[in-house]
Amino acid sequence: MDQLSPPASDASDDERVAVPSTGGRKKVSNKWEKADGVKHADGAIPDDYVTRTLEREPPLPPIEWKNVLSEIQWVSATVLTVTPLLAIYGMFTTPLSWKTFIWSFIYYFFTGLGITAGYHRLWAHRSYTASLPLQYFLAFMGTGAVQGSIHWWARGHRAHHRYTDTDLDPYGAHNGLLWSHLGWMIVKPRRKPGVADISDLRRNSVIKFQHKFYLPLILIMGFVFPTAVAGFGWGDWRGGFFYAAVARLVFVHHSTFCVNSLAHWLGEASFDNKMTPRDHFITALVTVGEGYHNFHHQFPMDYRNAIKWHQYDPTKWFIGSMKALGLASHLKTFPDNEIKKGQLAMQLQQAHEKQEALSWPKSSNDLPVISWDEFKDESKNRPLVCVAGFIHDISSFLDEHPGGRHLLAARIGQDCTSAFNGGVYDHSNAAHNLLSMMRVGVLDGGYQLAEKEKVEGEVEKSEINSSLLNDDLAAQVSARKSVSSKATAYVVPGQAYHIDKRAELKANVRDKSGKVGRVF
Ligand SMILES: [Zn+2]
Ligand SMILES: [Zn+2]
Repeated sequence: MDQLSPPASDASDDERVAVPSTGGRKKVSNKWEKADGVKHADGAIPDDYVTRTLEREPPLPPIEWKNVLSEIQWVSATVLTVTPLLAIYGMFTTPLSWKTFIWSFIYYFFTGLGITAGYHRLWAHRSYTASLPLQYFLAFMGTGAVQGSIHWWARGHRAHHRYTDTDLDPYGAHNGLLWSHLGWMIVKPRRKPGVADISDLRRNSVIKFQHKFYLPLILIMGFVFPTAVAGFGWGDWRGGFFYAAVARLVFVHHSTFCVNSLAHWLGEASFDNKMTPRDHFITALVTVGEGYHNFHHQFPMDYRNAIKWHQYDPTKWFIGSMKALGLASHLKTFPDNEIKKGQLAMQLQQAHEKQEALSWPKSSNDLPVISWDEFKDESKNRPLVCVAGFIHDISSFLDEHPGGRHLLAARIGQDCTSAFNGGVYDHSNAAHNLLSMMRVGVLDGGYQLAEKEKVEGEVEKSEINSSLLNDDLAAQVSARKSVSSKATAYVVPGQAYHIDKRAELKANVRDKSGKVGRVF
C-alpha cells in the first residue's frame, strides 16, 4: 500500500503480509494465554521467524534503471515530489507575512506533534493513555501531516522496532540514509514488512473513524484548514495555502522522515550499540523531540525520548502537560535502575576499548616460574627484585627511580613487597603500573614471605623473651605490619576486569546482489 494514499479497506495489513508459518510445529497453549477471542497476527510466530522468512520469501528484484518506472509507488512519489516543487513556486511568487509565518510554524509544530505524540508514542507504542478529546485532537493533527492512516503507520512502525536493521524492517537503516528517509516510500517495498500485531488499534474508534474518512480528512487537515485560518483570519489565502499548507507539509514530512533516517545515523549509542538507532540533539531539534532514538529503541514503551531535563523533547513536555490538564494518564516510564545499567554497559565497553589500546603487563601464565634460589642466583648478574610474588628486572629503571638509585640497588635479590607497599614508601598507582611492566618471572612458593610469616609467629610467641629476636627480622616484621591494606589490594587495571567486546552492528541477511535500495 502506498504510504500516502488512503487505505483500501479496513482489512488488516498485518494479516496480509509475511504471515508466519509454524512449520508444522504444534502450538501448545497455557493458562496465561488469554482466551479473549482476539486473533493476534503474530500469535503463532515461530522462534526462527526472521531467518526463515528471509530465506523462504524472495525479495522483489533490485531496483535498476530498466525496472525503475514499474517499481515506483506513484501516489507517494507524486505527493513527495509535487509538494516541494509547489512550495518553492509559492515562496518565489507569494510574499510571506509575519502572521502567516507564525501560523505556519505553529501548525507545523502541532501536526508534528500529531505524529510524535499521537501516531508514534500513543498508538504505535501505547506509552500512555489519552482521553477521547486528546485522541481526536492528535488524530486530526496527525492527519494534517499527511503520512498515511494511524492504522497503517503504527503497523509499519511496530515492524520497524521488531525487525530493526533487517530486511523485514520497512525502512531499515542498513539500506542507507536515503532509503530510510524516503526511498522506501517512493518505490514498492522490496519485501513485505515483518508481521506485527495491531489488533488493539483495530478496536479503537478514533482510528477506525480516521481510517474510514482518510481521504477527505487529509484534504481538509492538510490543505483546507491551514489555508482557511490564514484566509479568514487576516485575509492571506494565498500565503495560507503556499506557506501554512504546502511548505509546512514539506517541513513536517522531512522532519518526521528524519526519525527513520537521521536518528539511525547521527549521534551516540548511549544505551546499546548492537543496532543503528542513535541519540543526538540535532535530530531531536528537527523531529519535535524524537532525537534520543537509541534510548527509544531500548525503552520503546517509555513516553519519553529524552530522560534528562535539559534534553529537547517537546513531545514529552506536551504529554506531561496533557497529564496536568487531566487529558492523559498512565504515562509509562522504564525503571531508572534499568536505564542506568544500559548506560553503564556502554561506558564499560568504551573503557574496555581504551584499555585494549594500552599495553599491559604479562599475566602470570605467560611468565616463567622460578625458585627463590634461582632468583637469588640470577640477581647476581642482573638487577632483579621480587614484589608481591613477581620477579622484576629493574635495569631500565635504576637511574629513573625518584627515591634514588641507591634504594633500589640495596634491594636487588630481595623481596621488596613490604618496602614497596608502604614499609619504606607507599607507592602510587603509577608506580604499581610501571613496576608491573618490568615483570620477568613468577616466584615459586614465595619463599622469603613464608620465612617471614614463620618469624612473625615466633615474635608473638616470644613476647616474653624479645631479646632473642634478630634485629633485622624484627625490622622486617614491623615493616610488614605498617603496609597499608589499600596498597596491597591494588590490582593493575588491565588485570582487574575483563569485558568481552560486543559486536558493533548486527549483520543483516541481504539480497545476494546487495542492490536493495542502492539506487537511492
Ligand atoms: Zn527507529
Ligand atoms: Zn518508535
